[in-house]
Amino acid sequence: MQRTPRSAENRSAIAEDARCIFERHVRDRKLKSSKVRTELVRNIASLSGHFTAETLQGRLDPQVRVSKATLYRTLGMMCECGLLISHEFGQGALFFESSLGQAHHDHFFCVDCRTITEFTSPGIEAMQERVAAESNFELTSHSLKLYGYCAACGPKRAAAAQPR
Ligand SMILES: [Zn+2]
Ligand SMILES: [Zn+2]
Repeated sequence: MQRTPRSAENRSAIAEDARCIFERHVRDRKLKSSKVRTELVRNIASLSGHFTAETLQGRLDPQVRVSKATLYRTLGMMCECGLLISHEFGQGALFFESSLGQAHHDHFFCVDCRTITEFTSPGIEAMQERVAAESNFELTSHSLKLYGYCAACGPKRAAAAQPR
C-alpha cells in the first residue's frame, strides 16, 4: 500500500513544523544555525516516500544547493531530532523517510531492485502487542522489515529459473 502523495498545502505545513523542531534542536544543542541548512530541512521533511542520501540529491529543490558534506550532516541532525527515520536494509542500503504527517507502517524490501513498499497489517500489530504483553515486555515501538522479491522482480526470477 502506497501513501497518497502530499498536497502542496500539506507539504508547506509539514515544512513549517520541521523548521520549528529543527531550530529548537539547534538551540538546545547550541549548534550554529544556518539559513541554507534550515531551507534544506524544510525541503527534506516535506518529501514523501523513502530515499537514500544519493537518491535524495536528485529530488531536492534545484534552488537548494549544498555540498555532500552538508547534506550528510543535515541528514544526521534530522535523525537526532526525530524528523527523519532511518532504515538499514543491509548491504549498505540505508534509507530515510520523513516522520512528519504519516501514520505508522512497516516495509517490504525487494532484495533485487531495492524497492521499498509500505504495508500495514492490524493483525500483525495486534499480535506484536499480545506477544510483548505475554513476555512482560513494555513495547514502545517496532520496525518490521520483510525481505523478498517485489511484484516486478518475482516473475522475472521465476522465468529465469525455467529450464530452456
Ligand atoms: Zn524488485
Ligand atoms: Zn516507510
